[in-house]
Amino acid sequence: MDDNCVLKIQVDYSNWNDADNIKRLWIMYHELTHDLFNVEHGHGGPMMDPSLPSELTKENFLKSKQTLINYLKLIKFKETCSKKGEDKLRELLKKN
Ligand SMILES: [Zn+2]
Repeated sequence: MDDNCVLKIQVDYSNWNDADNIKRLWIMYHELTHDLFNVEHGHGGPMMDPSLPSELTKENFLKSKQTLINYLKLIKFKETCSKKGEDKLRELLKKN
């Protein structure tokens, strides 16, 4: 999260294997948002809460993902590794 030139995410192999696809997506969005955008818990809606919701459904995931993306669209990039990377991220956000 502190090095804007490196993307590094670690997952617990056992928990990852036990998780369904919705839970895996939720975790990846959460962790990528930490690392790519330096967003901390409590910002960007339910997906950036420190723990998973008690009910994790596809509808809950899709709604929370859109809330997060809407929040990310408002963020100004303060430190970037390269302008090219920033442009690519902005391009990805526009698609959602
Ligand atoms: Zn977190």
